[in-house]
Amino acid sequence: MTTQIELDRSIRQSGLVLQPDIPICQTDLPLDWYQEEFKSYAEEYLALPDRKPASVLPWMDSYIRPALAEFGDDLMLLAHYYMGGEVVKLVERYGGKIADSYLLARQAVLHPDKKIFVESAVHFMAEAIALLSADDQDVYITNPKSGCTMEMMAKDFMVLPAFAKLQARFGDDVVVVAYMNTSGRLKALAGRTGGAVCTSSNAAAIVRWARGQGKKIFFVPDQHLGYNVAAQVGIDPERIALLPAGHAGGDELDPTELDHAELILWGSFCGVHTIFTPQQVEYWRAAGRSVVVHPESPKPVVDVADGFGSTAYLWKHVLEAEAGTSFAVGTEGHFVRNLAEQAALRNIDVVHLADIPNSDEQGCGCATMSRNDPPHLVAILDLLRRGEVPDINKVLAGDVVDEVTGFRERLASDERKSLAADARRALERMVEITEAASAS
Ligand code: SF4
Repeated sequence: MTTQIELDRSIRQSGLVLQPDIPICQTDLPLDWYQEEFKSYAEEYLALPDRKPASVLPWMDSYIRPALAEFGDDLMLLAHYYMGGEVVKLVERYGGKIADSYLLARQAVLHPDKKIFVESAVHFMAEAIALLSADDQDVYITNPKSGCTMEMMAKDFMVLPAFAKLQARFGDDVVVVAYMNTSGRLKALAGRTGGAVCTSSNAAAIVRWARGQGKKIFFVPDQHLGYNVAAQVGIDPERIALLPAGHAGGDELDPTELDHAELILWGSFCGVHTIFTPQQVEYWRAAGRSVVVHPESPKPVVDVADGFGSTAYLWKHVLEAEAGTSFAVGTEGHFVRNLAEQAALRNIDVVHLADIPNSDEQGCGCATMSRNDPPHLVAILDLLRRGEVPDINKVLAGDVVDEVTGFRERLASDERKSLAADARRALERMVEITEAASAS
């Protein structure tokens, strides 16, 4: 079993290339999935003869090149590794960068010269950039309906009532550790309780640090990451309590179990990562492959894998392996497809952990993240250039988004500032602890 903290300080080009014979987008979204202001762009896209680069790129260029010329160095395009491969390549084609959630969150701080960030990924990632941005930096998301399902089962109006009950019972003896996949409102809760944000690459270091405070740890929202980290840092499984996710989170508190618990987990999970099983690991290992997985996978899977780690870890670990090595990788499907493409150039073979031949099992991509497609990128950049970008695409700290309609509830300015300050404290603690752990 390998485990390591990866603190990749750079954003590099993915190295992925657009190929003339491969369609630009996996599937077309139905027209009524686009917000009203984006529909005319989607209609033009749908009317193109096919989805191949020769048809799509000239159309995209006609809108995006003028926007890039207008904003010049003020503009930064960003996407997450889990975006469909071709969208990742498109973002890079127009000078944008690809990163994991930790690095995405730091882009406004690392690039104070950039004034406009346009992100193709899910909402919590865009909000994390907004939380750390300066007053003269604006953050936009290409599709406000792109939410993370794990975060959607841990909205503030679900978690805060449960936390209030914990606080009523234990007073200030509860510290909150909020995974990056949370809203700004929960990151602020972590900040207020003296806790910190964590990512999959630094969760063990953060939980070790939180244990040092001698308080109960309330870990939100991913139960699987929570169980995996507990094992890494040596928390007794008997001293872990699990609260159901969603609206029921605060309803079933067993006082005896909670009194005994050192770690209290919120019960969210990622549908993409919970499909993995120990049997899949055994199947691929028997076929001669090394198996590496993301720690949002269930603990029994992580326990039998050859290695586990963050998105950045998986990317680096596989691509730095010796030529001739073969892997089964257990994480998001688009990422694995992009990784397989890059690995093949190095004579390394990669399959998705859930793609068991001759069975119904198949790996899947993050469906909500894939709601960002070429028309979304084109529309937002053209509307920005024309000064007509819709307010629902602008991301501010503390926004709560309805992922069905895209509607966002905004805080008043002073409330937003205070929430951002609390959340920033939790993010800054994460950076301090992570840097200290990687230096030691
Ligand atoms: S892959 Fe899972 S955890 Fe990651 S953004 Fe998508 S739904 Fe959320």
